[in-house]
Amino acid sequence: MRKLVYLSLGSNLGHREANLRAAIERLAALGEVAAVSSFYETEPVELARQPWFLNCAVALWTEKMPKQFLAALQGIEKAMGRQRTQPKGPRVIDLDILLFGNSVVDTAGLTIPHPALHQRRFVLEPLAEIAPEQRHPVFKHTVRELRDALPAGPAVRKASPSPRKRTSPPRINADEGKG
Ligand code: AMP
Repeated sequence: MRKLVYLSLGSNLGHREANLRAAIERLAALGEVAAVSSFYETEPVELARQPWFLNCAVALWTEKMPKQFLAALQGIEKAMGRQRTQPKGPRVIDLDILLFGNSVVDTAGLTIPHPALHQRRFVLEPLAEIAPEQRHPVFKHTVRELRDALPAGPAVRKASPSPRKRTSPPRINADEGKG
């Protein structure tokens, strides 16, 4: 059965925006991407002395089961060069499962909803952009309510979108060069 999965993506090494875009392209192999939030500049939370992250949230329809889905995410992290050197340290790409339909999973390697989902502004701000009314299946609050209940904390700012690649030559002003 198809389920709607919400993911958190983050990067703070290399070309962060290109890393998020590359991960989103790879996610398309796991199902149908339904929504992608804006990208957010976020202050590191757990290990402060590292570069700021770029984060976003993605909604994706998938036929996969949660464990199978997690394994596929870890495959993407590995293929993109993620190295697990320092726990909570800088990373090319981090992919977390936030919600998996209304499933509740609590096993050694996988917890859904993500155990820190309700505590992190860098997760809830992008998620609230694409799924404000989605309910947390354990706490029963909506994503918007969880976001609004957060205490002030590390900074999260919407990043200004970078210009897309040109698809047509720049327009030349007809008067340019005259006179
Ligand atoms: P991280 O270093 O943040 O990528 O954490 C990865 C570890 O968290 C993996 O070993 C996963 O097995 C585990 N994990 C538990 N729950 C989740 C979840 N909801 N999404 C992603 N990873 C999870």
